[in-house]
Amino acid sequence: MKNLIDEGSPCPIGCGGTLYYPPVENCSCHINPPCYACISIKLTCNKCGEGFREAEEPHQSSSVLSPKMGKPSHDFGNGKRIFDYSYDSRSGSTMVYTGRYEGEVTAKDIISFLGDGTFGHRGPYFQNGRFTYTKITD
Ligand SMILES: [Zn+2]
Ligand SMILES: [Zn+2]
Repeated sequence: MKNLIDEGSPCPIGCGGTLYYPPVENCSCHINPPCYACISIKLTCNKCGEGFREAEEPHQSSSVLSPKMGKPSHDFGNGKRIFDYSYDSRSGSTMVYTGRYEGEVTAKDIISFLGDGTFGHRGPYFQNGRFTYTKITD
């Protein structure tokens, strides 16, 4: 576990700096938490300015995730859940959610949890434990 880095850890480069989370820019959690900006935020060294990703999936089986883990999950009950989901809104007119699911998750579950797009949606499509759901927002 010695490779774990977190807020307050010394810089892995060894410059003597300390890692911190910089303020999130373009946060849209008020529309759709957790937003891509928050999910993709990097730990940043206060001395050399280098950015680092937090160690990958140290608590994969835990259902209690801190908001900064970047590995969200949502339990629908009855063994149904979605996890490791995130979205890409680079196109500007769509928000493409991708993630993983377990159990008999239905399209209705996904839509009611993630919400519908202003102009509707495509999917969600389920395949091999992964789902894709596109909200049309513009
Ligand atoms: Zn955010
Ligand atoms: Zn550093």
